[in-house]
Amino acid sequence: GNVLMWIRNKDFRAFERASQAAKSMGTHVIALHVISPGDYKSHGRGARRIDFMMRNVKELRSELKEKNIPLVVRTITPRKTVPKEIISFCDEFNITKIYANIEYEVDELRRDAVVVHLARESGKAAFFVHDCIIVPPGMLLTKEGKPYSVYGPWFKKWVETVNENDNLLETSEDPEANDESVRKDKSLHSLFEEEIPSEVEGYECADAEKMAQLWPAGYHSARESLGRFLEGKKGKEADDIFQSSKVKEKKAAVENYPEGRNRPDVDGTSRLSPYLAAGVISPREVVQKARKMNKGSISQGGKENGFSNWISEVAWRDFYAHVIVAWPRVVMGRAYNLAMESVCWEYEEDQVKAWKEGNTGYPIVDAAMRQMRETGFMHNRCRMITAMFLVKDLMVDWKNEVGEAYFMQHLMDADFASNNGGWQWSASTGTDPQPYFRIFNPFSQSEKSAQSYSDPDGAYIKRWVPELKSLSGKALHDPFHKLDKASFKKLGYPEPIVDHNEARKRALRRFKTPGEK
Ligand code: FAD
Repeated sequence: GNVLMWIRNKDFRAFERASQAAKSMGTHVIALHVISPGDYKSHGRGARRIDFMMRNVKELRSELKEKNIPLVVRTITPRKTVPKEIISFCDEFNITKIYANIEYEVDELRRDAVVVHLARESGKAAFFVHDCIIVPPGMLLTKEGKPYSVYGPWFKKWVETVNENDNLLETSEDPEANDESVRKDKSLHSLFEEEIPSEVEGYECADAEKMAQLWPAGYHSARESLGRFLEGKKGKEADDIFQSSKVKEKKAAVENYPEGRNRPDVDGTSRLSPYLAAGVISPREVVQKARKMNKGSISQGGKENGFSNWISEVAWRDFYAHVIVAWPRVVMGRAYNLAMESVCWEYEEDQVKAWKEGNTGYPIVDAAMRQMRETGFMHNRCRMITAMFLVKDLMVDWKNEVGEAYFMQHLMDADFASNNGGWQWSASTGTDPQPYFRIFNPFSQSEKSAQSYSDPDGAYIKRWVPELKSLSGKALHDPFHKLDKASFKKLGYPEPIVDHNEARKRALRRFKTPGEK
């Protein structure tokens, strides 16, 4: 029989493990991608991310065609019929083995359990492999055999495990399938010719053209971003949008990463997240490359440099994937820390609107929210600042359709585990969270963060909040308090929508005693 390579939401590459296994069966390989609007809806996926996915399907299709693997696309709705339809597809094309990459969210695991069952019933076999993170969930346990909830010891174990198991970072060239007989097989040949949709109804992307410039699809684009970050290779013109401050010397960003990762005004991070989230490039490949450039070392054991520091950030992806597997309640709208669920929330329509649109009167928050709306990306430090502002200053429940869901809608790298992990961290409800009493001051955050200055010259603020372009020094970070009334008024910039000191006291009180006002 033939073999199905089922390409899901996180593996838009000729993915190694499944395709390798499939190849070893010595049969024809057929790749299938399912458009499942019901899943998009229930996961709150945004049009940008769906559009990026469809662009990647197209790229992957031509890549696979070269190897004589047809990639076909089917729209299946309602979503609960996906398993049954997969089996019918297999029957239609004489497929007896199904390979796919495990997705760790609850609905997806349930779906796959049904697929395994139906496959078995109809004399087929379904194989699910770990391919979207580096260390499979469940592999790292404490001495008591429990999953880790704190990143530090988890990461130590992660490093040990990766160092001890060479296969975890192994990437293999995708198979030289080139099985020309597929084309000669009449029933399969037509699959190469099928039209594939370029968009999904209801998910038309309003700024598709701009997004395609900023985030071109395909493995080669991901490799270019990696080369720009690790080797200082020239990026594309559209990259300039991420560089607000002038750069003095042109080195590879990785060399400055320990500082650059806290500086939204410089293009100091890899911006690989959309590619990693969609699986256009493998996390194994990027870590392996960084390790090689770091003379074979993953972690410096305390003495961090850009490479090891960066690898430890890539590991956060694994950590949050492990968290959703160990505590699936977080996938079902619950806080990791259940005690924090009864915190008393507020919801002021106007304030929420101001947050979404970047009109809060807090320059760094506004710059960041506008950056996300314009580019589909937000710097990590700013994600923490804006998320914490919504939760602690506006006291809005991030689990309703506003916080986490709003990021899912707008981020090009939107990924449930990492996004939820980031929100739980900022909201002090997560596994290894920011303690509730450590509340960022959004005015001084832009001037100075824990490690260094976030936006020392305010170049990032000026770039995204042009109303403040004429300002400098402290006024740029806090115009309302630092300017006289008349000068402030002239700016046409909003007054702060809440008083941070008051809001801080309210948050401290409510987080200290969940349930009380
Ligand atoms: P780099 O600094 O170059 O890091 C390399 C890679 O490591 C990233 O591409 C990413 O895959 C991974 N990574 C880095 N930091 C983290 C982290 N804290 N958690 C998980 N993975 C990390 N990341 C997403 O991929 N998707 C999301 O939906 C998402 N939502 C977030 C929401 C909030 C509230 C917060 C605080 C963080 C969120 N992050 C998310 C994590 C992080 O902000 C982004 O991964 C990072 O900013 C992407 O930029 P980069 O590729 O240049 O990262």
